Amino acid sequence: MKIDIISVVPDLLQGPFAHSIMKRAIDKGLLEINLVNLRDHTTYARAQVDDYQFGGGAGMVMMIEPLVNAIESLQKTTVYDEVIFLTPDGDTFNQSMANQFSMKNNLLLICGHYKGIDQRVRDHFITREVSIGDYVLSGGELAAAVLVDAIGRLIPGVLNDETSALTDSFQDNLLAPPVYTRPEKFRDWQVPTILMSGNHAKIDQWRMEQSLQRTKERRPDLLEDDEA
Ligand code: SAM
Repeated sequence: MKIDIISVVPDLLQGPFAHSIMKRAIDKGLLEINLVNLRDHTTYARAQVDDYQFGGGAGMVMMIEPLVNAIESLQKTTVYDEVIFLTPDGDTFNQSMANQFSMKNNLLLICGHYKGIDQRVRDHFITREVSIGDYVLSGGELAAAVLVDAIGRLIPGVLNDETSALTDSFQDNLLAPPVYTRPEKFRDWQVPTILMSGNHAKIDQWRMEQSLQRTKERRPDLLEDDEA
């Protein structure tokens, strides 16, 4: 999968993909991340990419020409499955969206800044608008990093044990069960004995019950979604 990301501060995105699972995905050739500096696509003096908003009011707006130049220059060589604008008023990102995006070949992510981007870019180029939650970040880069991480780990071959993604929270509208590792006893705190039994059918059943209980307590809305 290839993910192109347009940003005015692409350096912000160097760190998140240079370590751990994302780095491994890139090293294995399963994921390609291409950071595109919006300032390389402006024809305005001093690499300007933003301007005052029409109608007045506080805050600058990212101009249409640099964004369209960047998008159209990328589209010369890549057909995108989705052109995604990260924005607080978009659809809230979730695991189901991550699953869907992980099956695509080419994604283009656009990071906004300031008051956001000229509405005409949204009207004519964007195919999906995605928020990572009901709060406002200074820019779309951290949101883009969240999407790439959640999507990238689902690409077949990225995780060593592929089933581990399937047993994570939200995959079946359930939260994950509790997990334990050595030592079996720390102070007076004993690992549930069922996990030491070697009886995998019983362990699976216990995990399912724990998942259900945790979901009922913490996220009953997920179980309602399941019934809908
Ligand atoms: N004026 C915009 C509004 O109120 O909806 C907020 C602009 S915000 C300061 C600048 C940029 O950060 C946005 O254009 C978007 O790309 C990104 N951003 C901020 N919060 C976000 C969120 N919750 N999810 C995704 N992107 C976000």
